Amino acid sequence: MPELPEVEVTRRALAPEVEGGVVREVVLRERRLRWPVPAGLAQRLAGRQVLRLERRGKYLLWRFEHGTLISHLGMSGSWRVYREAPPPGRHDHLDMIVEHADGTRVLRMTDPRRFGALLWSGGGEHILQRSALFARLGIEPFDPRFDGALLHQRTRGRRIAIKQALLAGEIVVGVGNIYASESLFEAGIDPRTAAGRLSRPRCARLAQAIRAVLARAIEAGGSSMRDFIGADGRSGCFMRDAWVYGQNGLICRRCRVGRIRRIVQSQRATYFCPHCQRR
Ligand SMILES: [Zn+2]
Repeated sequence: MPELPEVEVTRRALAPEVEGGVVREVVLRERRLRWPVPAGLAQRLAGRQVLRLERRGKYLLWRFEHGTLISHLGMSGSWRVYREAPPPGRHDHLDMIVEHADGTRVLRMTDPRRFGALLWSGGGEHILQRSALFARLGIEPFDPRFDGALLHQRTRGRRIAIKQALLAGEIVVGVGNIYASESLFEAGIDPRTAAGRLSRPRCARLAQAIRAVLARAIEAGGSSMRDFIGADGRSGCFMRDAWVYGQNGLICRRCRVGRIRRIVQSQRATYFCPHCQRR
């Protein structure tokens, strides 16, 4: 499932291909995604310039002068850029043909399981940010305001385990299951620790670890940017370097003493080193 790093890698790869370009045509072959694709989307975008391609959480925001196209990769979605597109396959639901300074590009959205989304927001920025999709999202991990102090403040009084608090995405977005295990390992925090019991220095270490882990995952994805864009392959890239995730029963590579344990929290697997990570 594409996580924040895969979406950010997608954004970085697509942005230079579309920003400043003008949409010549949108070919929509399947409207039944997670939510129905709004009627008239193709007409709404034709002839319009893509100003910027941004990301919020796992959503890509295609900024136009008259509104924002919101796309999500769901469970199995991906975008690919072509100079000349091959004939569409049955899971290629949308082509956006963009005239760019360097020539024509075809941006193709593929999504076999159809949990992805294509939505339109014609309102202003404040309406978009208050919409049901975005209102409850936590801060971006690379926002400079995300630090130990904020993490400390937002976890006070919370008895929920820190791993689950991170996964919920309401404090900070983008810390998916793999990244939560890896970040807590790097910060030396037992994933079962009550969020509200973390000291301020430990919150600072955790905030830093989250940023470092996500930055590495983005970098791992960036290295394979040329063969765009199978989102799954890239989490695989990162997984090879995982300290704890998927390492159940193995000796911890950092302390060489602890044996990595796998537990289940809220039906999600958590991996940790009982020697390196403390409550
Ligand atoms: Zn260890």
